[in-house]
Amino acid sequence: MTPGTASGAVPDAGVWAAPGRVNLIGEHTDYNDGFCLPFALPLQVTVAARRSAPGRWVARSSWASPAVEFTADGLAPGSVTGWGAYVAGVVWSMLDSGLDVPGAELEITSDLPSGSGLSSSAALECAVQRALLDLGGLSVPGREQALLAQRAENAYVGMPCGVMDQSAAVLCEDGHALFLDTRSGAVSQVPFDIASRGLAVLVVDTRSPHRLVDGEYAERRSSCEDAARQLGVAALRDATLPDLGVLPGLLRRRARHVVTENQRVLDTVALLSAGDVEAIGPLLTASHASLRDDFEVTVPRLDLAADTAVAAGAFGARMTGGGFGGCVIALVRSSRAGEVAAAVAKAFDAAGFGAPETFLAVPSPGARRLS
Ligand code: ADP
Ligand code: MG
Repeated sequence: MTPGTASGAVPDAGVWAAPGRVNLIGEHTDYNDGFCLPFALPLQVTVAARRSAPGRWVARSSWASPAVEFTADGLAPGSVTGWGAYVAGVVWSMLDSGLDVPGAELEITSDLPSGSGLSSSAALECAVQRALLDLGGLSVPGREQALLAQRAENAYVGMPCGVMDQSAAVLCEDGHALFLDTRSGAVSQVPFDIASRGLAVLVVDTRSPHRLVDGEYAERRSSCEDAARQLGVAALRDATLPDLGVLPGLLRRRARHVVTENQRVLDTVALLSAGDVEAIGPLLTASHASLRDDFEVTVPRLDLAADTAVAAGAFGARMTGGGFGGCVIALVRSSRAGEVAAAVAKAFDAAGFGAPETFLAVPSPGARRLS
């Protein structure tokens, strides 16, 4: 066996999947060298793939047209645009790291909402990448897979996301949340088998109208870098609350979110490790308040969903994902999930908002071969 090559039979074809995720807590921390705690959803992107002529890739999606076709010649950021950029980006990133990526035909289906902050982009990248690795008989550690897929999204698609989404799509395990230290790359599996405790995570997709999220995300990211520079630290991970007094008002609030959010992740991990699941509720709610008041990435639909869920009996609730729309998660007693969902739907109706989608999130496994 040569390095980077798997032992055992290499398939000619198969079916692979990678999941979406919700982030339990630790938002906008992953590009500050901080902590986050995602878990994978049962909703996923599925890729039926077949090895074909070397140096050529064809991808079709049941969700998007047209089909995408590209070759290794001239493959560079910008050479494929639209949804196909996620696929081409993965091939480009793998080739660029020296992997002998097999040519392939890829048929993509999905039951994961796209653009709702549930990380369909990383699910697509990681499902395609896992298929190509297995078809090529290539063995790459999970952490490296996440970094390769992140590079596809950063450098090829042009979205400056952190490594959380791809890490979750690759590394999550059934019944666990993934504690990720984005500085060291260290991960650990934190028990989060909520069903056995009569608990559930209700996801509310607020279906907020589309906003220019990318610009806002880039602005928050550069504010954090600016704050770290002014504090003389490598990243906001290294700052403490008393340090922040020297920052001007807006940067101080942005940095305060990151510093307090990192602590909330550590507190959540400690509580879950001690088996005290319900007790994380107030941390979720405090995270939402921080994202609303200090980081200013919530919108009225997110605030209404989180506030209503708590008023209707959730242990805690918060927006999840980048913000400006997308989803809220609420930790609820399973027997009360329907009641909380109904309360949110009623509040949305009364506010004149479109009906939200709700579903229960069960902590699920990461990218894998299905058949
Ligand atoms: P999120 O990751 O939160 O769902 P993004 O904006 O990061 O939102 O990624 C959404 C994009 O990912 C879509 O616009 C599309 O280009 C791509 N995508 C996701 N799922 C699919 C799919 N099943 N087929 C084709 N493209 C997809
Ligand atoms: Mg995404």
